Amino acid sequence: MATDTVQQIKDKLSIQDIVAPYVKLTKAGKSLVGLCPFHKEKTPSFHVSVERGTWHCFGCGLGGDGFSFIEKIENVDFKGALKILAEKAGVTIEYSNSSSSRERSSRTERLREVMSRAGEWYAGKLSGSPAETYAKKRNLSNDTVRDWRLGYAPDAWRALLEALTSEGFSIEELLGAGLIKAADGKQGTYYDRFRNRLLFPIRDAAGRVVAFTGRALSADDPAKYLNSPETELYHKSEILFGMDHAKDAIRTRGFTMLVEGQIDVLLAHQSGFENAVALSGTALSEKHLSLMKRYSENLMLVLDADSAGLSATAKSAALALSSGLRIKAARLPAGKDPAELISEDPKDFTARIAAAKPIVDFFLAELAEKESDPHRLLRSAENIVLPLIAAMPSPMEREHFVQIAARTLGLSGEAVRESLKRLQVSPRLQRGEMKRPEVGGSFNNVQRTVQQPARSPAEIRSEQLMAVLGAYPNTPLAKRVKAGYLQITEAKQLPAGILPEQALFKAEQTFGDNPKEDAAEELLHAFEEAVIREAYQEAVMQLRRAESKGDISAIKEAQAKCAKISARLAAFK
Ligand SMILES: [Zn+2]
Repeated sequence: MATDTVQQIKDKLSIQDIVAPYVKLTKAGKSLVGLCPFHKEKTPSFHVSVERGTWHCFGCGLGGDGFSFIEKIENVDFKGALKILAEKAGVTIEYSNSSSSRERSSRTERLREVMSRAGEWYAGKLSGSPAETYAKKRNLSNDTVRDWRLGYAPDAWRALLEALTSEGFSIEELLGAGLIKAADGKQGTYYDRFRNRLLFPIRDAAGRVVAFTGRALSADDPAKYLNSPETELYHKSEILFGMDHAKDAIRTRGFTMLVEGQIDVLLAHQSGFENAVALSGTALSEKHLSLMKRYSENLMLVLDADSAGLSATAKSAALALSSGLRIKAARLPAGKDPAELISEDPKDFTARIAAAKPIVDFFLAELAEKESDPHRLLRSAENIVLPLIAAMPSPMEREHFVQIAARTLGLSGEAVRESLKRLQVSPRLQRGEMKRPEVGGSFNNVQRTVQQPARSPAEIRSEQLMAVLGAYPNTPLAKRVKAGYLQITEAKQLPAGILPEQALFKAEQTFGDNPKEDAAEELLHAFEEAVIREAYQEAVMQLRRAESKGDISAIKEAQAKCAKISARLAAFK
C-alpha cells in the first residue's frame, strides 16, 4: 500500500483540516467538538483531538482517524479516501515497490469485478424466468426485486461460466469468487455453482456484492438454500445481509432488527421496516455485533415461534449484551415466519414489534409459559436468565433486572444477587499489555474497539485512571495518579491492557484543558473503595470455601483477612 503517501498526507493535513469542511468545530477543553455528521443530534457529542489526530462520537460510538472519517462521510473505501486526501494535501500517490501487495490488491479488484458482473448477469436473466414467478409467489414486489437486484441462475451447467470467460474473466477468478466448482474426478472440468435458483446477492455494508444465496426452484432439489463458499471477499461471520440497505434506517429508527432469513429481510423492508438485516447461515459473531454498533446500540430479535431453542438464542443475546448492545425480543405466532406474517397481516407484525420486551423480561415470560413446575422454572431461569444479567456491562442495569427477575420468580433480590455473584468472573485487572490503539499508518482501525465483557467497578475506574495518564502525560496530575494507583493496588507497575480512544476523549472532557495536580483525587478515592470491596468479596468467598471444607486453620486465616479488610472498608463510610 501507499504508506509513504499516507505519512505525507498526515504531515500536511491535521485532523482539523480534514473534518472542518464537514463539521463546524468549536474548542472545548483539550478537544474540538461539533454536531456529529453520522447521527442526528442537537447537542454536540462529536469530539476531535488535534494532538492525537483522532475523532470520536459519544453519541453513536463511531471514531477513528482522518482516513476513516473520509471513508465514512464520503462513503468510499480506503483507496477512495486516500485519493481525496492526497488531492487536498497536494501529494501524489506513490505505491510501494512490493509487487506481491500490488498483485494481491489487483486480484481483489478482479474478484470484486467478477462478482459485480455476475450479479448483473444473473439479474439480467430474471425477467420471465421461473425465479421471477417464485419471487411473486413469495409476495416480493417488482420494486423490491429491482432494488435488491435479485437474479436467476438458469437451469444449465455452464451458462455463467461461458458468459464470463467470454468477457475475459479467468477460470481461476471464477473459482476464487466461488461462482464455479471443479467437477469431481474430471480434471479441468468446471460447472456453475448456482443452477435453477432464485439468487439473492449478499453485499457488504458498502454495497459491494461479495456472495450469493440461491433458493432452489425445483421441489426435488435436496438443498433448499445454497450459499457461496467463504472467499477472499466473503467471510460470513462479518456480513449482515441487508446492512447496505438498512444502515440509514437503523440510524434514524435507533435500532437494528434481526430477522432469520433473506426473504424476511426483503419483506420487512418492503413493508417499511427498512432497518431489518439477517445472518447468512452462521451464528451471531463479535464482528456482526461491532458492525451493528456502528449504526445503533439497540438490537431487536424477531423470533419465529419454532426458531432455534431458547438456550441458543440466549447465548447469542448474552454475547450481544456483553458487547454493550441493548436487546429486545419479539415473538411471532406459532407456525408463521416474519415473511408470512408481514404479507398476511402487517398490522399484527407491527403490533408485535411494538410490544417487544427487554430480553430478560422476554425470557422470564417465555420460561414461565413453558415450565409449570416451579423447581424446573427456577433452574431454567438460573441457566438462561442469570447469564444474561451477568453479561450486562452496567451495574445499574444489572440491578434493575435483578429486581425484575426476583419479582417474577418470587424470590428476594438478595437471593438473585447471590446466584449472580457465583456466575461472575473475578476481576481481570492485570492482563494484557497497556498501549494506545495504533492510529498511525494502519487503516481500518476505526471501530476496532475491543469488545469487553461486563466489567467490575474497580476495572471501570482503573481504565478511567489509565486514561488520565494517557491524556495528560508528563504532568503533575499524571505523576500523582500513578503514585496513587500503585499505592492502592500494592502493585509494582501499572496494569496492562488496551486503552480505547474513547476513554482518552472522556478523560479530556472531564478534566479540561489544564487540570490541577489533585484533579483526580475523587476518582482515586472511588477506585480505592472499589478495590477494597472486591478484595472483601473475595475474602468472604474464601471463608465460605474454608467453612464448607471444615478446614479450621483456613477458616481462621480467612476470618482475619475479612476483619482486616472490613476495617479498611469502614473508613469509607
Ligand atoms: Zn455520532
